[in-house]
Amino acid sequence: MLIEYFDFHPEMVATCECGWAGRGRDTEIELYESPVVTRHCPKCDSILLSMEYPTFNQVREAAEAGNEEAVRMARMYCLEFKAPTRRPH
Ligand SMILES: [Zn+2]
Repeated sequence: MLIEYFDFHPEMVATCECGWAGRGRDTEIELYESPVVTRHCPKCDSILLSMEYPTFNQVREAAEAGNEEAVRMARMYCLEFKAPTRRPH
């Protein structure tokens, strides 16, 4: 299943054809040189989720929307983004 990188959540439910079921954080992550990150079943190693590594623009947008991982990544890459605090209009 191809999902958006920032749609992944450690608590999301993941199931495999082999009968394994668990949470997103229980899957095994593999990082390649390619811009695709895959998460595998810890039992049979099938690919359960694949995610394209986000572009800087996607990181910035997700950080501005308040995604914690995106905020971490944006800081790591020293991207400028508007802090996701809500100000009164
Ligand atoms: Zn499996």
